[in-house]
Amino acid sequence: MTRPLVRHALYASPLFREALGAIPGLLALAFLGMRRILASMDTQHALNTFYLEEPPAPACTAGSGVVGRFAPSPSGRMHLGNVFASLVAWLSARKAGGRVVLRIEDLDPRTQSGPWAELLIDDLRWLGLTWDEGPLYQHNRLEAYQNALDTLEQAGLLYPCFCSRAELHAASAPHASDGTPIYAGTCKGMPADEVARRMRTRQPALRLEVPAADDPRGTVAFTDRVFGPQCEVLAHDCGDFLVRRSDKVFAYQLAVVVDDAAMGVTEVVRGCDLLSSTERQMYLQHLLDLPTPAYAHIPLLLAADGRRLSKRDHDLDMGSLRSAFGTPERLLGRLAGWTGIAPDTRPRSAEELVACFSWDAVRAHRDNLCIDIQRFMEGAGPAA
Ligand SMILES: [Zn+2]
Repeated sequence: MTRPLVRHALYASPLFREALGAIPGLLALAFLGMRRILASMDTQHALNTFYLEEPPAPACTAGSGVVGRFAPSPSGRMHLGNVFASLVAWLSARKAGGRVVLRIEDLDPRTQSGPWAELLIDDLRWLGLTWDEGPLYQHNRLEAYQNALDTLEQAGLLYPCFCSRAELHAASAPHASDGTPIYAGTCKGMPADEVARRMRTRQPALRLEVPAADDPRGTVAFTDRVFGPQCEVLAHDCGDFLVRRSDKVFAYQLAVVVDDAAMGVTEVVRGCDLLSSTERQMYLQHLLDLPTPAYAHIPLLLAADGRRLSKRDHDLDMGSLRSAFGTPERLLGRLAGWTGIAPDTRPRSAEELVACFSWDAVRAHRDNLCIDIQRFMEGAGPAA
């Protein structure tokens, strides 16, 4: 199932290529050699690194070249928040006359058994959220991830990490905005004999070394379609990050980057809980010479008490929603009305919502959307 990576002409790519063009050789090996020199350079240039302007709104014509995607993880039944994210991703691509690809993110072996992948597909079909390619399963793509890992390895950018979860989450460790601990570099530069000694008893994870804080190459910036300009200094904001876990499962960040490129994805629409992983993914795209899609992070649906909806909230999963609302039009119409996508909550199919959709409406609600579950469900019946 591995296909050659095709370089796509993205609306974001001219600027991205321009930024890359400014890097002599652009190869990671050159990058390593240049790092010491660059570290002493004026960091004024840092904010220009990889900076992407907000892409222009694509024209509403068939075959526009826009490719959106669904990338659900089969760790449970879809909940209302997943439905919202899928709906917005679909509406954005369809409004632009684009295509949608479906990828099942089942890298974690725990997600590879059980009914969830089939139920996800069935729920998307029921909702009328159609796709043009896929489903592609990440568990079939291990060779492609290994190739990417080999490229990084050959560039000398990876090192083994033996730290336990408890060590990483030590109380003193600073944490990134997404809750992951910022890696202190404990295992960086470990002598080969020490690595060999430790490997006899423990399988290490693999980390990608990010540039030092004063190296402009480690500053990644982009403009999110909903949340506007974003910028991270990788060394400060996430540190050297995992590309493969100690159980040899490839890291989400690496797989997503490889798959988005292989599937020709030009726009990523997903929940804003993933906003802060974008810079890591862009850095990987740079190292692997892959195109960068446009990014749009959308608000998470929150329950009335401010808690984030999750797959644990079975009362709002697709099983309950389908039986309570009866038709996709009633569910989607109500969801679209409550989230500001449609002017009212009358039943509408996904196709009918294309005409209503605008990014301005999503931006207007970007500070998270509270859904009073009880009130939302009260409208489920035919009398609503
Ligand atoms: Zn470590």
